[in-house]
Amino acid sequence: MRLCLPALLGATFALAISNHVSAAALSNLPQSVSQGGLIVATLPLATRASLAGKAIHVGRDGTVVFGAGRDEKGPLNISLIYQDGHQENALIRVTPRNWPVERVNGVPPQTVNPPPSVAERIKREQAEVTAARNRDDEREDFLNGFVWPVKGRISGRFGNQRIVNGEPKAPHSGMDIAVPEGTPVKAPAAGIITFAKPMQYLTGGTILLDHGFGLSSNFLHLSRIDVKSGQRVQQGQIIGLAGMTGRATGPHVHWGFNWFGTRLDPLLLPGIAQP
Ligand SMILES: [Zn+2]
Repeated sequence: MRLCLPALLGATFALAISNHVSAAALSNLPQSVSQGGLIVATLPLATRASLAGKAIHVGRDGTVVFGAGRDEKGPLNISLIYQDGHQENALIRVTPRNWPVERVNGVPPQTVNPPPSVAERIKREQAEVTAARNRDDEREDFLNGFVWPVKGRISGRFGNQRIVNGEPKAPHSGMDIAVPEGTPVKAPAAGIITFAKPMQYLTGGTILLDHGFGLSSNFLHLSRIDVKSGQRVQQGQIIGLAGMTGRATGPHVHWGFNWFGTRLDPLLLPGIAQP
């Protein structure tokens, strides 16, 4: 036992140092996040971070973002690696949500069960969108918070289990806001347009807007597109008009939000969330 004592003291000392160092970083991370929720935090400078063993983007100012998908059970296992190589782990609880069943009828049948002749086209269009979502810019356009792209009744919520024309389909990937055809759609935050095309088979007039760090908004079913891929837009700038193109039953704006490939709930974003 005596032989072990110095070693034990050494371990205690190291632990004290590690607790001191980690307190600042870990206190910046929330203890829990809702399914579909986004986390934005600031880490001490030069700290590296990983989520479930995979490196995540840490900005030069220590900004880090990540999200919990709709079906994420958690906890999210975050590792922080400090400049001196010392490592700390944080477990963030994921709060489960209820996903009500939503029945949508009167959808154009050719968009619910597309004919085999358009399978290639749909695959190509979806691949382009997936590629655009992989962009990882240093821009921090998301830090100013978000505004509603249009004001109106929420006619479809993120994550709801959907039964379309009587057939079970994938959960709803975004938030639908019902507005009259032709209502101007505003950029909820600044960013760069990474995709802007009028006639996508399922999503109709489609815009992707990249806010940096893998965060992107998508707007579907638009009747007009006023921006081009590569264009910089400011928060509140009009990017197109609401419509009902593609798989839609009436005029509305579908606003989807992604952290890379992970779909998040726009209703939980800073500036959008109801207190
Ligand atoms: Zn929708």
